[in-house]
Amino acid sequence: MILPQYDGHCGWYEALDNVSAFPELISNVRVDTVVIGGGFVGCAAVRRLAENRPDERFLLIEALKIGQGASGRNSGFVIDQPHKRDLESNDNDLKRKLVRLNRTAIDYLKTQIDQYGIDCQWSPAGKYQAAVGTRGEKFLSHYEELLKGFGETYERIPRERIKSVFGTDFYSSAIFTPGGALMQPAALMRGLADNMPDNVQIAENTAVTEITRTECGFLLKTGKSSIKCRKLILGTNIFTAELGFMRDHILPVMTFASMTKPLTDDQMKRYGGQLDWGITPADHAGTTVRMTQDRRTIIRNSYRYAHDYNTPQELLPGLGLRHRKAFDARYPQLKDVEFEYTWGGASGLSGNFETYFGQIEPGIYLSCCDQSVGAARGTVSGMMLADMACGKKSELLSDMVEVSGAPSRLPPKPLLRVGVPLRMAMARFASRSEV
Ligand SMILES: Cc1cc2nc3c(=O)[nH]c(=O)nc-3n(C[C@H](O)[C@H](O)[C@H](O)COP(=O)(O)OP(=O)(O)OC[C@H]3O[C@@H](n4cnc5c(N)ncnc54)[C@H](O)[C@@H]3O)c2cc1C
Repeated sequence: MILPQYDGHCGWYEALDNVSAFPELISNVRVDTVVIGGGFVGCAAVRRLAENRPDERFLLIEALKIGQGASGRNSGFVIDQPHKRDLESNDNDLKRKLVRLNRTAIDYLKTQIDQYGIDCQWSPAGKYQAAVGTRGEKFLSHYEELLKGFGETYERIPRERIKSVFGTDFYSSAIFTPGGALMQPAALMRGLADNMPDNVQIAENTAVTEITRTECGFLLKTGKSSIKCRKLILGTNIFTAELGFMRDHILPVMTFASMTKPLTDDQMKRYGGQLDWGITPADHAGTTVRMTQDRRTIIRNSYRYAHDYNTPQELLPGLGLRHRKAFDARYPQLKDVEFEYTWGGASGLSGNFETYFGQIEPGIYLSCCDQSVGAARGTVSGMMLADMACGKKSELLSDMVEVSGAPSRLPPKPLLRVGVPLRMAMARFASRSEV
């Protein structure tokens, strides 16, 4: 069984001060519902369970420290718009439902951030999608058509304004959508964990290794304890298959990011742009770039079929060089800016782009294959899984069921290990000007 591992390289997590600790579970316990996995799904699910049922106790179990998994390693965009493939659907009603669900997630996170004063660089900064050259322009125009057709607010940013915002004239044009937020993901995850309702117990560094169905529920085994519960919510992302669910349906894909040191005053002058923005590439195989509130630049690109789930350490230096090249192409005036961290993280995709949400077996609820937009989608999935487990009906829950589907069965692993890298290499080659 492959379990999550943390390698100490994620810049967001390593930049945190005074990380709190939740003890490993070493005694046997009995609770009504256990949530496994402390990412966006798990944290939202356990909070919502606790809000729905204030008189019951709930347990959140995380194999690592909360913030070390994918939810603390991402690029920090909390996106309100549907994912590209959903945006391409002709069904405007479906798209409206997706936007409403994503905005519900954004509001849920924002409410907690405000209520508990979570310091995670949260900002309603929206999102830029930017193009390089003719190929990128073609993708950007297609994106514009989709937004227009769907009646969403956006702004075309002309080339003259691009330099004053991003400090580079690398991009030929960009589209700004105002609805999303930016954040420091590891800080957000720690803040969410540190401010759970009183009826939530968190166990970190505790991996669930076995789930057995019993007469009245489930028996879970961890290294040092066993847990009896009636219901289970799995927020375990790609590791869900290792627990025996959705095997051959989750395609684990790893992507990589690097973070610079904070820019000095002199480097800021040479940079010449603004703080607190994020660009996703018009061509999806391109590069994501962020400038944080604390003057760090994040570069994310490159994909890998993550059959082994965790990050092979030997790949990181080469990927760091790729990020350096992408940074230098955008900021030739900042060759002296040092990179401090390079890391990888895996997301769950599916062969047919469908996301799973629901009760997979009696008493077991899960969502997976969020197509790598899990900050919003994972949060609202967790909320709605909790409602479903509590038998709480709502229009939002019906929408959630409606926008979700059945991830297709994937080809056998040996085929994936040849086919997926080949497809990724072709996509990377085609979008080389964007990288
Ligand atoms: C580099 C990168 C950039 C990204 N950028 C963005 C972005 O900007 N915006 C966005 O929306 N999405 C982004 N994503 C995707 C996003 O991070 C994921 O979609 C999201 O984190 C998934 O959340 P989750 O709760 O489903 O899973 P995870 O965050 O993976 O949480 C699952 C947790 O379960 C734990 N776990 C697994 N197995 C067990 C077990 N047996 N016992 C106990 N615990 C277990 C894991 O340790 C993990 O912490 C990015 C991903 C990466 C890697």
